[in-house]
Amino acid sequence: MRVSELFHSIQGEGHLTGKPMFFVRAQGCAVKCPIREVCDQPESLGFKGGSEHSAAELADFAVNAVGARGWVCLTGGEPLEQADFDQVVAACRKRGLYINVQTSGLHRVNAPWDWCTVSPKAPVDKLALNFAQELKLIYTGQSNDELRGYYERFSAWNYYLQPEWRDGGSNQAATLAKVFELNALGMYWEFSAQWHKFLGVR
Ligand code: SF4
Repeated sequence: MRVSELFHSIQGEGHLTGKPMFFVRAQGCAVKCPIREVCDQPESLGFKGGSEHSAAELADFAVNAVGARGWVCLTGGEPLEQADFDQVVAACRKRGLYINVQTSGLHRVNAPWDWCTVSPKAPVDKLALNFAQELKLIYTGQSNDELRGYYERFSAWNYYLQPEWRDGGSNQAATLAKVFELNALGMYWEFSAQWHKFLGVR
């Protein structure tokens, strides 16, 4: 797999917040994404650069960092656009790791994950994947109808709204207000805080 970076940190977003994880950030993302210009890691978007690692090597790095019953997070970029994604999942599973896949929802995930996080980058009816443990949406001012569409037509255990960071600030207050507004409308969205930013870790 071509990777942009490898690091050991805690999961800062969503339901698995606080869990130590080994992060494998795949290099490259072809998704026509509405928030591409403020993407988490812009340097990971091109398909050139980064470094190549075998599936076995990545799984070994992860076990050395978090132990055999720890978590590995396969993120990006868009990890599902890597030809050998399935082999990386298989190698991690063989060593006993728990696997968190983070994806845009524009590709099917056929490999057996333990926890799938879809951060949708298209309207709900354009997604190739319509179920996951959690749906995590960056709040950029979507209408209540659009948010209801995800809530009712994407099958998840947890629905998170997460602030958008732009120009050194974020829309946290607006995101929190929207969470409460949606709750009052009968939709149990939750707030995802991105704790790694507050802790000053990766
Ligand atoms: S889909 Fe994800 S990785 Fe790709 S540009 Fe959008 S936010 Fe970045």
